[in-house]
Amino acid sequence: MGKLSDRDKKHIWHPLTQHKLHPTMLAIIKAKGCILTDEEGKEYIDGISSWYTSAYGHCNDFIIERVYAQMQQLDQVVFSGFTHEPAIKLSEELIKILPPNQEKIFFSDNGSTATEIGIKMALQYHFNKGDKRTVLLAFENAFHGDTFGAMSVSGLSVYNGPFADFFIAVERVATPTKENISEVLEKLEKRLQKNDIAGFIYEPLIQGAAAMQMHDPEGLEKIITLLKKYGVITVADEVMTGFGKTGKYFASDHLAVKPDVICMSKALTAGMVPMAATSCTQQVYDAFYSADMSKGLFHGHTYTANPLACAAALAGIALLTSNEMQENIQRVIAAHKNFDLEIKSHPKVARTRQTGTIYALDLAIEMERYGDLRDKLMNHFMSQGVFLRPLGSTIYISAPYVITDEQLRKIYDSIKAVLELI
Ligand SMILES: *Cc1c(COP(=O)(O)O)cnc(C)c1O
Repeated sequence: MGKLSDRDKKHIWHPLTQHKLHPTMLAIIKAKGCILTDEEGKEYIDGISSWYTSAYGHCNDFIIERVYAQMQQLDQVVFSGFTHEPAIKLSEELIKILPPNQEKIFFSDNGSTATEIGIKMALQYHFNKGDKRTVLLAFENAFHGDTFGAMSVSGLSVYNGPFADFFIAVERVATPTKENISEVLEKLEKRLQKNDIAGFIYEPLIQGAAAMQMHDPEGLEKIITLLKKYGVITVADEVMTGFGKTGKYFASDHLAVKPDVICMSKALTAGMVPMAATSCTQQVYDAFYSADMSKGLFHGHTYTANPLACAAALAGIALLTSNEMQENIQRVIAAHKNFDLEIKSHPKVARTRQTGTIYALDLAIEMERYGDLRDKLMNHFMSQGVFLRPLGSTIYISAPYVITDEQLRKIYDSIKAVLELI
């Protein structure tokens, strides 16, 4: 049979990979709690929750039990014309934890489609009202996914070159800081006079793909308030920030003014199976509600509201809202704060930042040395049994909330060791 990493090379085309430069994949055979095990038996602490999914630990027994029970009852059924208990229950539980203005849930199966649907809601909302608005707003350096609408609003265009000619009309807003906010608002208000802006999509508080850039809630709140005044549909992409990452259920909970639409995926099903959801207000929903068939939202995926995914999401929400998990979240937040005191004045650390359970630091390193820095850093962490995936010279932690104090210590120590190496 041969090694998995060798067999992999024959037929598999991996995502976000230039195979000529990175021919070999690490084969993982097992995941439990915060530990990944490779085919040689080496263990790694999953410091990024496998791309922010496994928030309550891998192969969580409670989630497994719930999904297994669902498997024996109803596996999959068409969700157009049919409905089922797991989806209904999930809509009820999501509405309980979402910001209070959210009323309707549209299910899909990955983060990109969650944002794609949010974009369509914003565009068609105005179309249905006979209001010609064709431009979207998005933050600089945004990331919203890899489908066409999502790519259009994403500002990290290095990988989007071949498709740039096919994008929808998007204009950029600078992410707010205490210094630029009045200028941003002034420019925006001038731009809004044309009344052609349909929607604004944004990652609230943390821009993950932009190397964990964080902005403060006050500036964002002012931008959203202004946009609402001009009837712009605000779409919070909480695909990464949802389900406890920022210390609250959603990043939008840190703001007094709430978005019209919220996109969710990643930790929604706690890493068990793929699923996504886009929620919206009654006002958005009502713009589609009509005796006229063509005013409906004609978007649907075969696996919409898959019952197994619903069961996983329901189990995940039960865990998230438990006292035990909330205590874990607070414990992780406090641990990161202490670690920050330990290293923020280290000469090799340029800047540190934290929002809730997510901690990031920028290395103080000259541009010329960037080259293969990321690979070097990652190799260092992996050799120490820690899975961190630096973005350029930024190292970030977004571990499962159930991580033990010892495992956290091991991650921190591996970062401290890297500071001595570079
Ligand atoms: C990951 C991510 C997406 C895309 O989700 P996929 O499931 O990878 O398609 C969109 N927006 C944000 C903020 C993300 O972090």
